Amino acid sequence: MKKKSKREQEYENRYRDNDPHLMQFEPPCQHKEGRFRCCSIPINALCKAKRTLFANPNKKQQDMRLSFLLDVNSPKRQIRRKKIPVCARFFRKLFSIGQIRVNTISKGIASGKGVIDKRGGDHKVGKFEARRKEVVKFISKLKGTESHYNRSKSQRLYLSSDLSVNKLFKMYSYPEKE
Ligand SMILES: [Zn+2]
Repeated sequence: MKKKSKREQEYENRYRDNDPHLMQFEPPCQHKEGRFRCCSIPINALCKAKRTLFANPNKKQQDMRLSFLLDVNSPKRQIRRKKIPVCARFFRKLFSIGQIRVNTISKGIASGKGVIDKRGGDHKVGKFEARRKEVVKFISKLKGTESHYNRSKSQRLYLSSDLSVNKLFKMYSYPEKE
């Protein structure tokens, strides 16, 4: 196996769990019931959450996982997804992450662009965004027909019923043939 460079080693240490069994963990709050239930979560569940997050010492993968755990939206959704709501302080301390990293991830989620790693420079995100714009442009060029129902009320336009997703994709991929 290839020996890891000092830089790689340092990077891994940075994104490794230094306290997987929570031996040094002191909850920063006393939330037990109500809006946040930080201190009612069994320790093995907390350890499991940490194990999952730190499975790979890779910032981008961890940010992705964190983004699933973070809820930027209403607390109602947390309940539906069977997550136990914890306060921000507890969350940061448990996963030993700073406010800036949480903010960056939250911003990514809120903007719909997902998690972007500025250091590595993720070109896929940029490419995807360009592609998305192209598709929107393509769709907006198609002629819509009005709904058969509630014609007077509805503002929506409907695509001709003989257009399938497959057909649209072909039209989009080879516009010159149409
Ligand atoms: Zn708390």
